[in-house]
Amino acid sequence: MNHYLPEKAEIIDCKEFPYEKKLFRIKANIDFIPGQFVEISLAGIGEFPVSICSAPHEKGYFEIYVKKLGKVTSQLFKLNEGDFIGYRGPFGNGFPINELKGKDVVIVAGGLGILPLRSFIKEALHNNFCNSLTILYGVKEPLDMLFKEELKEWREKAKVIDVYEEGGKKRICK
Ligand SMILES: Cc1cc2nc3c(=O)[nH]c(=O)nc-3n(C[C@H](O)[C@H](O)[C@H](O)COP(=O)(O)OP(=O)(O)OC[C@H]3O[C@@H](n4cnc5c(N)ncnc54)[C@H](O)[C@@H]3O)c2cc1C
Repeated sequence: MNHYLPEKAEIIDCKEFPYEKKLFRIKANIDFIPGQFVEISLAGIGEFPVSICSAPHEKGYFEIYVKKLGKVTSQLFKLNEGDFIGYRGPFGNGFPINELKGKDVVIVAGGLGILPLRSFIKEALHNNFCNSLTILYGVKEPLDMLFKEELKEWREKAKVIDVYEEGGKKRICK
């Protein structure tokens, strides 16, 4: 694949979340390392970088979770299942998976910072390659908490501590 040329790909699933956030599943055969990102392009509008938040073992597609902000993300928000986008990548070094194998790994994420780490968490739990995994995840308020259903699954295999504020009080779920 030429990294300078966008590859055309179909959106095969998308879900909308509070505060103008949307999860897109893009049909593509792409090899990547957790922590890497792609450039998403819309013809005639522009492109923007976004973390891949699905895991490498999930074949045939990748997922991105986008917060609507400016020119390109606003246009992307208008697209749905069956529409096409362009993507280039993956780019970036990704996380040092081999160095983390067999180690006690602690992940600390705030807000959207969980996105590239979700890729790592899913891969680590699927292949069971860390000795232990602890996830510390903080958000401003409950509606900011991403992947709530997955947090329940992660809790079965990892130590998850999530923190958010409600009614001016800090809540900690262990
Ligand atoms: C490596 C990397 C990974 C990333 N991963 C993610 C991810 O997983 N998910 C995600 O949601 N984002 C991610 N981002 C951020 C994402 O790239 C930006 O949100 C995106 O580039 C915004 O593009 P845009 O064209 O919609 O915004 P632009 O139009 O370029 O606007 C950029 C900024 O300017 C502001 N702006 C635009 N127009 C105006 C205006 N008229 N007046 C005032 N302010 C304005 C916007 O609010 C926005 O803050 C990542 C960024 C990087 C570098």
